[in-house]
Amino acid sequence: MLLFREESRPPDGQGPAARSAEVPAEADMDPERIWVCRQCGHAITHPDQGIIVDGAHRHTFANPHGMVYEIGCFRSADGCANVGPTTDEFTWFAGFFWRIAVCRRCQVHLGWLFESRGMRRFHGLILDRLAISADGGGSGSAKTQ
Ligand SMILES: [Zn+2]
Repeated sequence: MLLFREESRPPDGQGPAARSAEVPAEADMDPERIWVCRQCGHAITHPDQGIIVDGAHRHTFANPHGMVYEIGCFRSADGCANVGPTTDEFTWFAGFFWRIAVCRRCQVHLGWLFESRGMRRFHGLILDRLAISADGGGSGSAKTQ
């Protein structure tokens, strides 16, 4: 339980923000932690859903507008809703179509769902729009504000 104390620091402290840069390795080792929406605290996915795609879990991409995103690949992301049309325009992964993935609760853009014709699918989630949290509903932090 002591381990979780750090996580209850307010988000304007250095805790969650400083952690995000080092999260994947650390998170992989602790199955009790989950990825939540940084904006609303909604549970998005579990670190054990992280997968390697094209040789890496993390990828850095720029969209056609020059926005740079660092994404992590996840087998599933139950906390996301997929919106908009499926397209392969400007896809970052050859052979994959994509759709926008948003937080089911607050609708903030969290990343993309990638799907291939071979039924392979995964989520690419923007890592700095997620925060790591102790398990247990994932919405606890909202209450304290
Ligand atoms: Zn949200």
